[in-house]
Amino acid sequence: MTQTAERPTFEEDQLEDVEPPELDPEVAARRAAALSRVRIFGDPVLRARALPVERFDDELRAEAARMAGIMHDALGVGLAATQLGVMHRLLVYRVGADAPLAVLVNPRLEWVSDEVEPLEEGCLSLPGIHVDVERPVHVRVGALDDLGEEVLIEASGLEARVIQHEIDHLDGVLILDRTSREERKAAMRELREREEAGPAG
Ligand code: ZN
Repeated sequence: MTQTAERPTFEEDQLEDVEPPELDPEVAARRAAALSRVRIFGDPVLRARALPVERFDDELRAEAARMAGIMHDALGVGLAATQLGVMHRLLVYRVGADAPLAVLVNPRLEWVSDEVEPLEEGCLSLPGIHVDVERPVHVRVGALDDLGEEVLIEASGLEARVIQHEIDHLDGVLILDRTSREERKAAMRELREREEAGPAG
């Protein structure tokens, strides 16, 4: 499957719309277990600002590895530490199955293009919600890796979008804040209705 190439949308969770029966039962079970670790909208940690990482030790590397594992099992393309309730400025992403895993610590957007592009986005912390988000197409990001070494990333398209989506998480910003008032209202209504209906089977 080549979701990235064929899908016109960006999903933090690329397989959001694939019915679980299509997945191998073992993969589906691992995915459900991973998703159960991800904080869902309504949890105040998703609205908090994460703190800069100051120590680049084995604990940090274990944390990044744990995040990468959960992202992988959840079949996601990106994950921010805050989504697991960890208030560190730390994110991981992997855009495409063959791409290397990226671990960014204390990332900062150093430049964004004037050229912007709208695209429908989904989020592991907002299951089933999709809204149009307009973002710069090209970005330059400075960060540290998990050893504390400076890295500079120039990204475009999907990679640029994933990085911006995850940095937003570190600032307590969600896709609901980046969409039109109408789409936000519709998404909030859906979230409220779902809450009233109780947890989905
Ligand atoms: Zn997200």
